[in-house]
Amino acid sequence: MPSPKVTITAPNGRQVAINTGLFINNEWVESRDGKKLTSINPATEEEIVSVSAATTHDVDTAVKAARAALEGSWAEVDGTQRGQLLMKLADLVEAEMEPLATLVTIENGKPYSQATGDIEEMCGVFRYYGGWADKTYGQTIETNRNKFTYTLREPIGVCGQIIPWNYPLGMAGWKLGPCLACGNTTILKPAEQTPLSILYFADLVVKAGFPPGVINILNGSGREAGSAIVEHPGIDKISFTGSTATGRMIMKSSAGTLKNITLETGGKSPLIIFDDADMKNAVKWAHYGIMGNMGQICTATSRIFIHERIYDEFMELFLKYTAKISIVGDPFEEKTWHGPQVSKAQYEKILGYAESARQEGATVLAGGQPASNKPNGKGYFIDPTVVGDVKPSMKVYQEEIFGPFAVVVKFTSEEEVVKAANDTEYGLAATLFTTDVTRAVRVSQRLRAGNIWINSNNNSDFRVPFGGMKQSGIGRELGEAGLQAYSTIKAVHLNLVMANP
Ligand code: NAD
Repeated sequence: MPSPKVTITAPNGRQVAINTGLFINNEWVESRDGKKLTSINPATEEEIVSVSAATTHDVDTAVKAARAALEGSWAEVDGTQRGQLLMKLADLVEAEMEPLATLVTIENGKPYSQATGDIEEMCGVFRYYGGWADKTYGQTIETNRNKFTYTLREPIGVCGQIIPWNYPLGMAGWKLGPCLACGNTTILKPAEQTPLSILYFADLVVKAGFPPGVINILNGSGREAGSAIVEHPGIDKISFTGSTATGRMIMKSSAGTLKNITLETGGKSPLIIFDDADMKNAVKWAHYGIMGNMGQICTATSRIFIHERIYDEFMELFLKYTAKISIVGDPFEEKTWHGPQVSKAQYEKILGYAESARQEGATVLAGGQPASNKPNGKGYFIDPTVVGDVKPSMKVYQEEIFGPFAVVVKFTSEEEVVKAANDTEYGLAATLFTTDVTRAVRVSQRLRAGNIWINSNNNSDFRVPFGGMKQSGIGRELGEAGLQAYSTIKAVHLNLVMANP
C-alpha cells in the first residue's frame, strides 16, 4: 500500500513535506504489518509524526529488490556512471540543505547551525567516493609464463547498513558513499530516534537517477528491523555504527550466515595535556571534544588528563570557556551552541551518571543537572558537566556516557598517563597537546587508538581512514581504506598452455 506524505512545521515556521513510508525499490510503501514508530522533538518533548517501521517481511522485500538490482540494472552501470550518480546526489542534497538541516534539528535537537555540518559531511563523502568509483582496480600478477593471472575488485553484494542517531545524515553518507562507489546495493536502517531527515533524502535518490532497488531505506526498531537485517541470508555484508553492546550482538547473530562485517562502536577516549602545551588551544579543543554535539560523538574525549603543574590554570580556563561557549537554548536560535540530548532515555542515563559520580565520592565541578534555563521549561537539556576527584574504579571513568560529561584527572609523568589512557576496553581515539614534537610522536605510537589527534581534536576528515582498535570496532571507514570494506577480490588464473597428454 502506498504511504502518505505529511507536512512537518518546524518551530521556526518552516514547513517540510516527507513521505512517511518505507523506501523500497524507489517506491514508498507502508510496513506490511502496519507497524509505526514515533519521532519526538527532544527540544520540546512533543511528538512530531509517526512513520512506518519495517519488520521481517519488509526486510525480505527490500532484500529481494536489492538482489535484483545487484544482478540486473545496477550491474550494467559502470564505475564512471556510479561516480556521476554520487556527484549528482551530492548536488541535490546540497541544494536541499535547508529542509534537510531543519529535519535533523527537529528530530535530533542539534543546533541548526551544526545540523548543516551533517549535510556538508554527506555531500563531501559522496563527492569523494564519486571520484573513487572508477579508480578501484584489480591487479595483474606475474606468476610464470604458462599462465596469465589477474585480480578483479568486485562488489561484496547486498549490504545491510545500520546507523545511529548522532549524525543522522553524516553517518548515512559514510555508509552509502563507499558502498555505492564499489557497486553494491543496500538496505539502510536509520536509528529509531532520527527517522525523518533520511526520508526526505530518499526522494533525492530517485531524482538523482539511481535505478530501483539500489538504495532501500527502512526505518524500524533495532530489535525487529535491525535483527532481521543482520540475520537475513540474502544479505552479504553488515556495516554497523552504534554501541559496543549492540556490535557484540550483531557479531553473534550474523555468524549464522558468516557475513562480512564492519563495526564502528563506542569509546571512552582520553585527551592528554602536557605541561608544555599551548594552553588556549588545549582549552578550546578539550571543550569541543566533549561538549560538541552535546557530547554525542563516538570519539568524544571524555577523560581529560592534565599535567599537575598546569592543572589549576587549565581548569580555571576550561570551566570559564565552557560556561561562555556552551550556550544552552532553542536549537533553532542562532546563538544556541548546546541543544538537548537526543532522547529522554539518554537524558536520564546521563543524569544517572552524575548521581553515581556524587555517590562514589567525585566532585561535580560544573553541571551534573538538568539545564537551569531550558527554553519553555521543557526538553532534554543538560548543563555541560565536568567532574573532578575521579578514581579509575568509578563508573564515570570507565563507562561511555555519550553526553556532555567530562571527567578530569591529574597526572605526573608521561609513563603514568600513557598507561592510564590505555586502561580502557575501548580504543577509538586519543588526543594529546604538547609543543614537543618528539614526545608527540612517541606518545602517539604508544596510544592504543584508531585515531590520534595532536594539538587539535575531533576533526576527522573523509579522506582519512576512521575506525577503532580493541572493542571500538572492526575495519575502517572513509579514505581509500573505506573501499576495502565494500569490495572483494577475485583471483583469475588463465592457463596459456593446453595440456597435450
Ligand atoms: P545502538 O547500538 O543502540 O543503536 C545503533 C543502531 O543499531 C540503531 O539503528 C539501532 O536501531 C540498531 N540496533 C539496536 N539493536 C540492534 C540489534 N539487536 N540488531 C541490529 N540493530 C540494532 O546505539 P545508540 O545508543 O543509538 O548510539 C550511540 C552509540 O553509538 C554510542 O555507543 C557511540 O559511541 C556509538 N557510535 C559510534 C560511532 C563510531 O563511528 N564508532 C559513531 C557514532 C556512534
